[in-house]
Amino acid sequence: MSLSVSQLCKSYPIREGALDILQSCSFELQNGESLSVAGPSGSGKSTLLNILGSLEPATSGTVMLNGVDVLSLPERDLPKFRREQIGFVFQDHHLLPQCTTLENVLMPFLSVGRITKPLRERGAELLRRVGLSERLEHRPAELSGGERQRTAIARALVFQPALLLADEPTGNLDRNGAAQIGTLLLELTQTAMLIIVTHDPVLAQRTKRQSILENGILRSS
Ligand code: ADP
Ligand code: MG
Repeated sequence: MSLSVSQLCKSYPIREGALDILQSCSFELQNGESLSVAGPSGSGKSTLLNILGSLEPATSGTVMLNGVDVLSLPERDLPKFRREQIGFVFQDHHLLPQCTTLENVLMPFLSVGRITKPLRERGAELLRRVGLSERLEHRPAELSGGERQRTAIARALVFQPALLLADEPTGNLDRNGAAQIGTLLLELTQTAMLIIVTHDPVLAQRTKRQSILENGILRSS
């Protein structure tokens, strides 16, 4: 597995021309590697993750994930590609309030078919790995912030994605909760690739490689 990002540019059209957000960002990531992205608010960190996850178009450049040219994929192939290759964890967990923990984790499967017994077992196993085996039937409102985020991580991993993208995943947690989420993200992606956008210097130092996005330029740090 590998990710290769080459000369990625993103600008938004504005009245007086274009607002350049990403200017020729390039990097590579191999299987089992993790990368943190720090940088000032508004520097384009979320934009970068969204482009890598095929949620947003780029202005130019290429993103190759396991040999697939992500930015050239036809629109009709994007949902399947995202579901099978990419996992997202956001600052806010985005869990469905009316669903249980287990149902939330299995939610990505609902768009492709029935929830079978082996799938339920897979969801329960993932929840066990994130330390929530005693919380399968809880609703999000009955969980702590850290537990909700752990549920979101289990959901992001249910299709065993090649690339996990985490956008300030510990932004709403206290230091202890943040440390636990960092540990989980790193543990659970040892056979995948992980990119974490974070303001937390402790978390940023725990990934294999570190980078900073500033003035449109992504550089190793
Ligand atoms: P970060 O995650 O680093 O805080 P973002 O990626 O969310 O930054 O945003 C980067 C910049 O792009 C911000 O300055 C924001 O105002 C701008 N931006 C985001 N979306 C749009 C859009 N649709 N049109 C114009 N500018 C945008
Ligand atoms: Mg952001």
